[in-house]
Amino acid sequence: MPPPFIIPVFIAHQGCPHQCLFCNQRSITGASEGILGPREVEDIIRTQLAWPRRYPTAPVQLAFYGGSFTGLALERQHELLGAVQPFLASGRIQEIRLSTRPDYVTPEIAGFLREHGVGIVELGAQSLDDRVLAASGRGHTAAQVRQAVACLKEAGMQVGLQLMLGLPGDSTVTALAGARQAAELCPDLVRLYPCLVISGSPLAELYRQGQFQPLTLPRAVALAGRLLAVFKAHRIPVVRMGLQPSPSLEKTVLSGPYHPAFGELVLSRLFFNKVRAELSVRSSYHFYRLCIAKADESVYRGKGNANVKRLAALGLLDGVETVFSASQPRQSVVLIQVAPRVNGPVEGKFFED
Ligand code: SF4
Repeated sequence: MPPPFIIPVFIAHQGCPHQCLFCNQRSITGASEGILGPREVEDIIRTQLAWPRRYPTAPVQLAFYGGSFTGLALERQHELLGAVQPFLASGRIQEIRLSTRPDYVTPEIAGFLREHGVGIVELGAQSLDDRVLAASGRGHTAAQVRQAVACLKEAGMQVGLQLMLGLPGDSTVTALAGARQAAELCPDLVRLYPCLVISGSPLAELYRQGQFQPLTLPRAVALAGRLLAVFKAHRIPVVRMGLQPSPSLEKTVLSGPYHPAFGELVLSRLFFNKVRAELSVRSSYHFYRLCIAKADESVYRGKGNANVKRLAALGLLDGVETVFSASQPRQSVVLIQVAPRVNGPVEGKFFED
C-alpha cells in the first residue's frame, strides 16, 4: 500500500491562546499570519490535486497542520472542514487529519470531527509527566491526554501522539516512563521531537538567562532511540523523529539538538548498537563475515561513516569482512564464523558506553 498523498494546510497559531515555553509557532511551521478562509483551502486542494503524483493510486489526505484545530471557533472549524466536504464526497480526498491539544477534545468534539470526515487526530501530548507539562507551560495534564485518546478512539478515529524530548524538568527516566505510558494508550502513530530553543519563544529567554539547557545532539539521538525501541516493542509506528527541516526553522533555532536528518541519526545509532552487540560476543580466535542488507548500508555506516569508524576504533572490525546483500532481510545483522585465526586472537578493547 503506497503512503498517502498529504495535502498540507497550515493554520499556525489560529485558535491558540496558550504560550508553551518552547513554542514560537510561526517559526516552527513557517506559516504567515494570514487567516485562511474556505476559498484558500479549496485553492490549495485544487492546486495540489493537479500536481503529478509519485503514487497516483495512493489515498489522499487533507492535513490541517499547526495550531490547535479544535481550539478554533466552531464556526471556523465548520468553514474549514466544509471546504473539504465536496472533495470527500467526490472521492478525490479520502480523509482529513488534523492536530490539536488534548484538552480541546471532548466526546462532542470527537463526534463532530468524525461526522466531517476526520479520520486521524494527532494530539500534542508532549509529555505524560504532570511536572514536565507544568514546567513547560502546557496548560494541560497527562490525565487529559488519556481522556482525549479515549474520546477519539470511541468516536472511531485514529490517534497520533506527539511527544517532545528534553523539555524543562524532563529526564531519561520521565521520558522513558512517558513513552511506556503512551504505548499503553495504543496510539496508531507517534512523532518524537527534540525540544529546541526557538528565537522568540519564552524558552529562548530562559536559555539566555542560563535557566534552561537543551539536550545535546548525541543525548537526544540516544534518548530518541530508547523511546523508539519502546514503541517498536508495542508495534506502534513512529512516523517522524525530529522537526521537518525548513529554512525558516533553521534561521530561528538558537540552540538544541537540531539536525535536518535527526531521524536518520537515531536509526543509525540503533543499528550501531545492534552490530556492536553482535560483534561483541564473537570469538577472538576466528575470522568472521558480517552480513547486512544492502538497503541498510547507509544506516549501518552512519553519517560520514561514523559507525564504521567507531566499530573500528573499538577493535570490533578486526578480522571481520563486511558484506552487503540484496537478499538479506532489512534490519537483520548476521555474523558468520569463517575460519580460525592462525596468528592468535584479536586484542580486546574497552567500550566507552
Ligand atoms: S498549544 Fe501548540 S500552538 Fe499553542 S502555544 Fe502550545 S505548542 Fe504553540
